[in-house]
Amino acid sequence: VAKPDPILKASGVRRSFGGLTAVDVQHLEVQRGTITALIGPNGAGKSTLFNLLTGFDRVDAGQWSFNGHRLNGVSGHKVARRGMVRTFQLTKALTRLTVMDNMLLAAQGQVGERMWGAFLRPLWGARERANVQRAEALLERFKLLAKRDEMAGSLSGGQRKLLEMARSLMVNPSMIMLDEPMAGVNPALVQSLLGHITALRDEGVTVLFVEHDMDVIMGISDWIVVLAQGKVIAEGCPEDIRSNREVIDAYLGA
Ligand code: ADP
Ligand code: MG
Repeated sequence: VAKPDPILKASGVRRSFGGLTAVDVQHLEVQRGTITALIGPNGAGKSTLFNLLTGFDRVDAGQWSFNGHRLNGVSGHKVARRGMVRTFQLTKALTRLTVMDNMLLAAQGQVGERMWGAFLRPLWGARERANVQRAEALLERFKLLAKRDEMAGSLSGGQRKLLEMARSLMVNPSMIMLDEPMAGVNPALVQSLLGHITALRDEGVTVLFVEHDMDVIMGISDWIVVLAQGKVIAEGCPEDIRSNREVIDAYLGA
């Protein structure tokens, strides 16, 4: 990483559930144009941190900004419109809508509490036509175009992961946050997902992803942030993390 140019900057981000401090991040930066991995044991707070930063959960304390805009207290769909989108550890495709309808709903911002309002809007304005074209291009890119009129519920687990990624790109984001995109996916599809992730980075989209497979992490990450018990315990390039004793003890267990 050359000159620091953070697209995302956070400080003092905290969230507790009852007596449990799930997230207590003093400082976090994600550099523009990188693939940054967020790693750590189960329960470390990775998904909670994603939820907080993207407006899907409320912090107890903390500030963060994205592309120079403060995001504290900004709701999920508005965060998405600012260009920061995320996928969920458990995919959220709407199983009883078609693949295309899933894509079009995402164009309104992230699927969330406003989705039914969005769904009821008149469908065939110029903007909607542009959205359909964009959706078709993305479905083609993710090899889902043949499935456009099928129910999302009929897709395989791996195809749903691809749909989740394609859908998140509908708003033309400058950063995408992927929560365990490779979990439970067959090896061939892992390779395809890795190709999509590096291609996005090469197009200038910043990627922050949660992953457990160390070969995958070491193979594609420009930077690695290690979370344990809600705190950042280390960060660095893959070589540094691999040789960091504290990280190996806390996480790699090797
Ligand atoms: P990770 O994604 O790193 O596995 P999570 O962010 O899912 O970890 O969880 C961090 C901790 O916060 C865990 O101990 C988890 O049980 C707890 N937690 C997460 N969400 C909630 C919630 N909504 N209510 C209570 N506890 C939660
Ligand atoms: Mg998680």
